Amino acid sequence: MEKRIFITDACVGCAFCMLVCPYNAIVVFGRARVDYETCNACMKCIMYCPNSAIGVEFLESGLESGLESGLESGYQEPQEPKSERFRIT
Ligand code: SF4
Ligand code: SF4
Repeated sequence: MEKRIFITDACVGCAFCMLVCPYNAIVVFGRARVDYETCNACMKCIMYCPNSAIGVEFLESGLESGLESGLESGYQEPQEPKSERFRIT
């Protein structure tokens, strides 16, 4: 089962997640955005977010083909109901 990180509206743009990401998969322009082509879902950013603004969802059948890079297309809300979402607080 694949994992996918998502950013919630609680993000304040502090960029801690960008600094700790070992894959440089996050950019921050006002708020954080995830490059899904680079992110390997290691979940390190979740542990460091001071606002608990990063969550993870577990996909039943992998990333959907229509999902593009967050850097290229902007943040996209994950599709429902094909996944279960968990916000780690
Ligand atoms: S660490 Fe959390 S609050 Fe800060 S930019 Fe990243 S997601 Fe937003
Ligand atoms: S899950 Fe890991 S690779 Fe993906 S954005 Fe967070 S720290 Fe970077």
